[in-house]
Amino acid sequence: MWQCPECLFLYDPNAKTASGVDLEDLPDNWICPQCATPKDRFEKIGGDDDE
Ligand SMILES: [Zn+2]
Repeated sequence: MWQCPECLFLYDPNAKTASGVDLEDLPDNWICPQCATPKDRFEKIGGDDDE
């Protein structure tokens, strides 16, 4: 799970709209759909590791 530092938009790779694509695998020019913050400013949150 990734979060936009500006608008707190959540990017969930497991959401239907994301099609299982992790944020790191998106194009470098991907931006927040809500506030256009560049993806490299997103912060990884939550425990989506193998736990
Ligand atoms: Zn945003």
